[in-house]
Amino acid sequence: MAKKVLIVYAHQSSGSFNAAAKNTAVEVLTAQGCTVEVSDLYDMGFKATATAEDIKGEVMNAENFCYMKETKLAWEQGKLSDDITKEQSKLTEADLVIFQFPMYWFGVPAILKGWIDRVLTNGFAFSQEKRYSQGIFKDKRAMLSFTTGSLESMFHPTGINGDMNVTLWPLQTGILHYCGFQVLAPQIFWAPASAAAEDRKSMLDSWSTRLQGLLEEKPLSFIPLNCFDEKTFQLKPDFYEKHASKASGLTVGIHLKKPLPPPSQMKSGC
Ligand SMILES: Cc1cc2nc3c(=O)[nH]c(=O)nc-3n(C[C@H](O)[C@H](O)[C@H](O)COP(=O)(O)OP(=O)(O)OC[C@H]3O[C@@H](n4cnc5c(N)ncnc54)[C@H](O)[C@@H]3O)c2cc1C
Repeated sequence: MAKKVLIVYAHQSSGSFNAAAKNTAVEVLTAQGCTVEVSDLYDMGFKATATAEDIKGEVMNAENFCYMKETKLAWEQGKLSDDITKEQSKLTEADLVIFQFPMYWFGVPAILKGWIDRVLTNGFAFSQEKRYSQGIFKDKRAMLSFTTGSLESMFHPTGINGDMNVTLWPLQTGILHYCGFQVLAPQIFWAPASAAAEDRKSMLDSWSTRLQGLLEEKPLSFIPLNCFDEKTFQLKPDFYEKHASKASGLTVGIHLKKPLPPPSQMKSGC
């Protein structure tokens, strides 16, 4: 069956390496019969700040404005601003979401963080009951595809920036998997600006090859929600005890005060 892909793209320049990576994804996925939609955030002038203007009409409490509560109600009542509603419709349609961006400050550019803050609203993207493995988007896939200024060796467990698995935990676990997405391994283009022309070409070639099998890839592993107590949100004792004798922790975040496990935020099957 033809799949629908949404690329949320955050780069200012059509001559950038990020633009080339985005164009490669559009070409290869379209050639495979996918319908590909691109949200080009800078081109759209996408608003990055989460404010009361995101709600049409009167808000519940203007004096003590609470974005989480106000946007939940506005979503229920169809009163979210048109730019948010449009992105939410694209997301609802998509089977796979690719976030294409240059790494900024160990994270995403502000305009993309704004998309995350404003589009993934309470009720639409998550709720207390529907999150992580039971999340609203559990039948969808998502992945990060990004460039760095740093060399790969700098994001190594012995490198100056520390382990990339740790850097990826907030984005892949705290945002994508929190909303239920099955998260595919990230596509990282290490330091394209300092790479030789032929190395940049081979980075795009290997992205192109990966894209051809992307829809069949096995997602990264996360701990299922039912392994946690419903009241304390702690690992259930039987699950905890089962892993007590293991040498490493379960995940980057849930490390059980042990050495970190193999690169679980970078490769599936870890
Ligand atoms: C605010 C800010 C914060 C940052 N924080 C971090 C950080 O925390 N960690 C980190 O590692 N880095 C960081 N950086 C650096 C940033 O991640 C890199 O500058 C960025 O990832 C480079 O990607 P680009 O697409 O902009 O590259 P570009 O500079 O656009 O491209 C690199 C090279 O690829 C060439 N190119 C373009 N198209 C093609 C093509 N089709 N084929 C082959 N070559 C092509 C370009 O001409 C250029 O020579 C930060 C930068 C900023 C501005």
